[in-house]
Amino acid sequence: AKAQIGVTGLAVMGRNLARNLARNGFRVAVHNRTPERTRSLVAEHGDEGTFVATESMADFVAALERPRAVIVMVKAGGPTDAVIDELATLLEPGDIVVDCGNAHFADTQRREAALRRHGLHFVGTGVSGGEEGALHGPSIMPGGSEESYQKLGPIFEKIAAQVDGVPCCRHIGPDGAGHFVKMVHNGIEYADMQLIAEAYDLLRAGLGAEPAELAEIFREWNRGELESFLIEITGDVLAHTDASTGRPFVDLVRDQAEQKGTGRWTVQSALDLGIPITGIAEATFARSLSGHADQREAARRAFPGGGAKLKVDDRDTFVEDVRRALLASKIVAYAQGFDHISAGSREYDWNIDLGGTATIWRGGCIIRARFLDRIREAYDEQPDLSTLLVAPYFAEAVSAGVPSWRRVVAEAARAGVPAPAFSSSLAYFDALRAERLPAALIQGLRDNFGAHTYHRVDRPGTFHTLWAGDRSEVEA
Ligand code: NDP
Repeated sequence: AKAQIGVTGLAVMGRNLARNLARNGFRVAVHNRTPERTRSLVAEHGDEGTFVATESMADFVAALERPRAVIVMVKAGGPTDAVIDELATLLEPGDIVVDCGNAHFADTQRREAALRRHGLHFVGTGVSGGEEGALHGPSIMPGGSEESYQKLGPIFEKIAAQVDGVPCCRHIGPDGAGHFVKMVHNGIEYADMQLIAEAYDLLRAGLGAEPAELAEIFREWNRGELESFLIEITGDVLAHTDASTGRPFVDLVRDQAEQKGTGRWTVQSALDLGIPITGIAEATFARSLSGHADQREAARRAFPGGGAKLKVDDRDTFVEDVRRALLASKIVAYAQGFDHISAGSREYDWNIDLGGTATIWRGGCIIRARFLDRIREAYDEQPDLSTLLVAPYFAEAVSAGVPSWRRVVAEAARAGVPAPAFSSSLAYFDALRAERLPAALIQGLRDNFGAHTYHRVDRPGTFHTLWAGDRSEVEA
């Protein structure tokens, strides 16, 4: 029998995805530019299921039942385009090309349009969970046509992570929707990690405790509302001791965070769409800042006295304050991320189900968390929710956390401990709920120097004041 699906590109991700497919009973055709990888996959894991090993792209395509479904898992960028172009010459109308790599959604839109002209379906698919997820059950975010999902859905839903019997996979929407949602997922991941890092830093500056003691606090938090994969592994990393020195591992790691670009893409897209994802942006910039070693060195010399301690009167109250501030800031980050998805969906006509998206992030992916059930419930109850912040569960958590949030941010500022994501999330919250914003003054300034006009609170119309003249107001 022919293979039900094929995977080309058998480095760590493609290899694990192919094994996951085979282990779930699908007949998988496998191919890699360098055939040695294909041979070693079958030699090492051939007993896990049915692999159809192929050496040429033509044999690979010929090994597939129709409509053919081919997963491309090669290096992102040029190599992905090269493989797609080659496949396009070999496939026939109705066949499906799935890009499970980390593509920018705009590239996916371009590739989808190009393949559609050949009668082919192109399905940009976000896959989260790293190599472990690919093997044991990732969170899968497929874009592309409804028609392609009829073939791919049953396969992907079977190999995805399962939570409460629900697969962490659903059709996100047309063309680039899947890669867009994966991009925002990664942006939220940046914010989540930055918030956790700030919480750790504040706890350390406040308690003067060793990382291993702080690990216990995170383990405790992981039994409550904050329960999530990232909080869980924070406990593991903080508890880890370096074997060669016996010192806390975290103290031996150079404090310069790296990035592969999805945070940057998220912020760039949000700027284009006009969505204030301040938490994700702060997190992305915080990584950049950490990498500017020369500036940091110069500033340390010019302004000595960093490494201050926080004033803590009562240990338990302080730990609880940081926990509540972390939860409130995290709610802001997710509210902003879902705003971003909602705006992308409107801009590109994707009709993305926001609650459904929360459902498929509950397992498999890096931001998997208990919290995501609450997000789904919020959108189930009110599909046109203006912001997650006001959904009952989140509104309550934020309200309950506000005094803690203010104490932590104020104390961090007083002591000089940087908490950019905590403080900007609090500012976002305060700005959203403000009776009046100084945006009114900005409009006045814009009208003054550039005749950009303004609206009034007391009557309709568009107005301009003759600033250089007699300062009378004219209707624009
Ligand atoms: P790599 O990104 O390291 O890519 C290596 C694979 O690409 C090999 O199979 C290689 O073939 C193939 N390749 C490279 N150039 C070409 C070319 N010009 N023509 C044909 N094949 C080529 O592999 P990974 O498994 O790490 O990642 C695959 C994709 O998954 C990437 O897009 C990456 O961004 C994404 N990814 C996603 C993760 C996630 O959690 N979702 C995690 C990690 C990666 P050869 O063996 O012949 O060199």
